[in-house]
Amino acid sequence: MVDRFGVVTSPKTKTIVRGWRHSTEAAFFLEQLIAFRERLREAVVRMEDGSSPIDAFLAEVNSLLLQYPRHTSLHKRDGKVIRETIFEPREPADLWAPIIDAAADLLTETEASRIRKCESCVVHFFDTSKKGSRRWCSMNICGNKLKVAAYQRRKRGENASAN
Ligand SMILES: [Zn+2]
Repeated sequence: MVDRFGVVTSPKTKTIVRGWRHSTEAAFFLEQLIAFRERLREAVVRMEDGSSPIDAFLAEVNSLLLQYPRHTSLHKRDGKVIRETIFEPREPADLWAPIIDAAADLLTETEASRIRKCESCVVHFFDTSKKGSRRWCSMNICGNKLKVAAYQRRKRGENASAN
């Protein structure tokens, strides 16, 4: 699941994470993560409504940020020095580090008008498009689904008028 969100990208980390599949720590982490996701969803819905997240939720995020800080290091690449996040989880709970960092970004650096619910599914997404008029969480999945449905409706309409 964490894999799917693109949190874990390096092959080495993927292998480690896969090894946790049947661990009780991983099951516990996943339970916590799902509960957190619900509270994050609430916060996002509040932001969409022009309000802000409740203080208790910010306190929870702050506590996780302290517990699972983001580690970075500097590297040279193409003659430039770049800063990269180091992510080497040793236990399932370490997965909080990139997740809570991303959640903190979402809560602070996101224009509320660019967060909205997908027109086709339950997902709320951050619209990074130039025009800011995206309607679907994913063009490949939900966008296409709606476009195909609209096309079929039009086609049925044409057939009906031709008959
Ligand atoms: Zn969707």
